[in-house]
Amino acid sequence: SAASDVYKRQPVHAVEDVTFGVKPGERFGIVGESGCGTTTTAMTILRLIKPPAYVDRGRVLLNGTDLLALDDESMHRRRWSEVSMVMQGAMNSLSPVTRVRQQIVDAITTHEGKAPGRILEKRVRDLLGVVGLPGQTADLFPHELSGGMKQRVCIAMAIALSPKLIVADEPTSSLDVVTQRVVIQTLIEVQERLGASLILIGHDMGLQAQIVQRMGVMYAGRMVETGNVEQIYSDPLHPYTQLLIESIPSVRERKMPRGIPGLPPSLLHPPPGCLFEARCPLAMDVCRQVIPPLRELKPGHFAACHLY
Ligand code: SF4
Repeated sequence: SAASDVYKRQPVHAVEDVTFGVKPGERFGIVGESGCGTTTTAMTILRLIKPPAYVDRGRVLLNGTDLLALDDESMHRRRWSEVSMVMQGAMNSLSPVTRVRQQIVDAITTHEGKAPGRILEKRVRDLLGVVGLPGQTADLFPHELSGGMKQRVCIAMAIALSPKLIVADEPTSSLDVVTQRVVIQTLIEVQERLGASLILIGHDMGLQAQIVQRMGVMYAGRMVETGNVEQIYSDPLHPYTQLLIESIPSVRERKMPRGIPGLPPSLLHPPPGCLFEARCPLAMDVCRQVIPPLRELKPGHFAACHLY
């Protein structure tokens, strides 16, 4: 088709210039509208990007090792054992015809090799206990579990090999509000218990504020602001972050949430300057011509905007 011809001619940069660091044991949030590159960023960290998409350049350093430079076998060994992922709608990735026990056992033995059944059974029960599920859950098939229980099984699988980093991409997106809280609480508890770092991707600024210590805001495939939660919420520097925060519904103030008018630009034909320019109430001439780089404007607080 004409559209696929266009794609063949020029690569589309779904994610570009994304830089951030996560400290050991820290929870780092990434916020952005759907389609802004957050999932691509998560998949890149775990090297799960599939053709025709590819990673053109960059590094993903985990304790000094560049994951993007590893051969497939070495990466396979590190995936789940050092860095694991709870995917969006992960519960749908469970096999419908396999009992929970076997799915968790498979996750363990694929990486660690065979082990006596008695030991595996204990690990399955311990893992289920850690995510707040009764041991009998091991006997059930996924369709016998609620959405929240399934997502907790996925968390149990993600932590089965005690990874140093957990990437959770909208882990509660298809759950009701009450179950969301329980699942997020479970995720925090297991992360703290393991002493692992957590990258939590989501679009709910209000929820993120209660969970993470530092965060990054993505827009149209780029990181536009990073800082600690206090900096981002009390002193947002990027106009997009400011509008996102204004759009958080507030029960106390009874204000109507304001959406952000307009749409992100087409990444097929991105504008030459700031990608937020068409929606930005503070845009200037320079914004139409020059891409603003992410710069440290206050200690530990970075933003990509020509206003500063
Ligand atoms: Fe707005 Fe310009 Fe800043 Fe972009 S660089 S966010 S257009 S002020």
